[in-house]
Amino acid sequence: MKGDEFGRHRVLSPAGALPQAAERLDAEMDGATHVYDDEVELDAEVLNIDSASFRQIEESVLAAGVAPAGLDAAVAKVVLDTVRARGKQHNPVTGSGGMLLGRVRRIGAAVADVVGLGRGLAVGDRVATLVSLTTTPLRLERVVAVRRAQHQLEVVGRAVLFATGQLVKLPTDLQEDMALAALDVAGAAPQVARLARAMGARRVAVLGGGGKSGVLACAAARAAVGPSSAGGRVVAIEGGASYAAQLEALGLCDAVIVHDARDALGVRDRVLAAAGGEVDLMVSCVNVPDVEMSAILATRNGGTVYFFSMATSFTKAALGAEGVSRDVTMIIGNGYCPGHAEETVALLRELPALRALFEARYGRARG
Ligand code: NAP
Repeated sequence: MKGDEFGRHRVLSPAGALPQAAERLDAEMDGATHVYDDEVELDAEVLNIDSASFRQIEESVLAAGVAPAGLDAAVAKVVLDTVRARGKQHNPVTGSGGMLLGRVRRIGAAVADVVGLGRGLAVGDRVATLVSLTTTPLRLERVVAVRRAQHQLEVVGRAVLFATGQLVKLPTDLQEDMALAALDVAGAAPQVARLARAMGARRVAVLGGGGKSGVLACAAARAAVGPSSAGGRVVAIEGGASYAAQLEALGLCDAVIVHDARDALGVRDRVLAAAGGEVDLMVSCVNVPDVEMSAILATRNGGTVYFFSMATSFTKAALGAEGVSRDVTMIIGNGYCPGHAEETVALLRELPALRALFEARYGRARG
């Protein structure tokens, strides 16, 4: 059977929606009525839940009175319930998903013709999906383990990718869970590199610089602005002392400042002092809401703010900038740009200290 390249054949409701915006997807994969020639089917093994989503799930179960000992089970139940109700891992509060690691189970006969999915793919390959779980039909049999520090769930399940989807074979020289964590935020560093180079940026700041995307963004920014000795400045604001210390140890930044990124005036003062002025490019990589004005106020007129964070509010950014007459270009963090997975993996290979940090935080050898 032929499906639709955008996956509309999998949308159950509302009628006419595309899969990402849909309320419910059809995640049935067995039987003649559900086998499509232009889909790739995967055995899902690890879900990498989007950071803003995972944080919201944890906070919601804690607020409901779940004891710390029951946290793993409660998080697993929230994810299982969401996937059963929606046919995909689409957090109804944050609107975000994540991505998954799995093994290719079936390649539809028409997939070889499809850009993005067809290149050299074979049944049994270990792959990471590069489209959001909010767009990915998913069925979960069970959750085997919850790895809260990594925002990852080991699962038994099945998933589908459409013709316009993207996946990448897992690099064999990197630990799988670490690669998955980096690939989850694969759009961040390449976009920062492109933006910074295109505008000839000399000063870049990263909010939430100690997290996954933040560290990668700092690495890309450093490469783009050049060394401190030649006037390039990279400044990070980070909430947690331990992540800040880890980032500082990488030597990518001129300053790593422990400060609440939601404190707009405090962030402005500290960024300006450390960078020597308002920045050309500001990158928001936090996983909490309410940093729009911090990002805007520390960016020069004519500069660019790249909102990678899923906790960003379009309204707060647009009306906030208008309210202080700030002429900044604001960019939504598209998770995709051509070559993003390869560029992100290349960064890990090129910078041994960065790779070691990712291995220590997110890696776990798998047989
Ligand atoms: P992460 O690893 O959890 O990093 C988030 C960082 O923000 C952490 O270092 C965290 O530090 C810091 N932070 C949180 N609250 C803060 C505050 N008030 N002040 C300063 N720092 C604060 O998350 P990630 O995986 O890099 O993801 C970052 C964001 O990008 C999330 O919103 C995620 O949903 C989004 N995302 C976007 C895309 C896309 O395609 N655009 C793809 C994937 C993820 P502490 O926790 O130590 O405070």
